[in-house]
Amino acid sequence: MARSNDWGFPRWRGYEDSREAVEVRLCDRYGCNEKGDCPAPKSPNSKERWYFCQRHAAEYNKGWDYFEGLDKEEAKARAKAEQTESAGYAEAQHYGWASSGDGSRSADEMRALEVLELEADADFDAIKREWRARAKKVHPDVKPGDKAAADEFQKLQLAYEVLKAAEERRVWKG
Ligand SMILES: [Zn+2]
Repeated sequence: MARSNDWGFPRWRGYEDSREAVEVRLCDRYGCNEKGDCPAPKSPNSKERWYFCQRHAAEYNKGWDYFEGLDKEEAKARAKAEQTESAGYAEAQHYGWASSGDGSRSADEMRALEVLELEADADFDAIKREWRARAKKVHPDVKPGDKAAADEFQKLQLAYEVLKAAEERRVWKG
């Protein structure tokens, strides 16, 4: 039987606390009393974890209502914490850029990103993904004899070349 301090929200029990180590951790989902043995990051950049039962881990991963089951104050506090964390993340991203090059995009790169409809801070993986997805749709093999598609394909190739060259310069310098 769980002790009274195991109830309420959040039901945190650190593993480093040896007195607690033998106890079964409960699912962190409000109101759930299943065994919580599926860790899930509290936010993408957080080292903190929820521990859910399998069902709630699946639900969480699907993007269940993060605030469900919390009262107003708790929900507000959690939203605030999340905002603070993601702000820190954005900042880190920003500085990450600065250290991997001169941190700025040339006019050509910006135009190339526009062709791919990506933001200025898109990383090269995102660029590659977007380029592949778009190029596939207008590839001459897929649309033979289609002038508009051919033009679009050409444009995508150019955009990709510009961004690839820029990426290589950054990696070289960084
Ligand atoms: Zn659960």
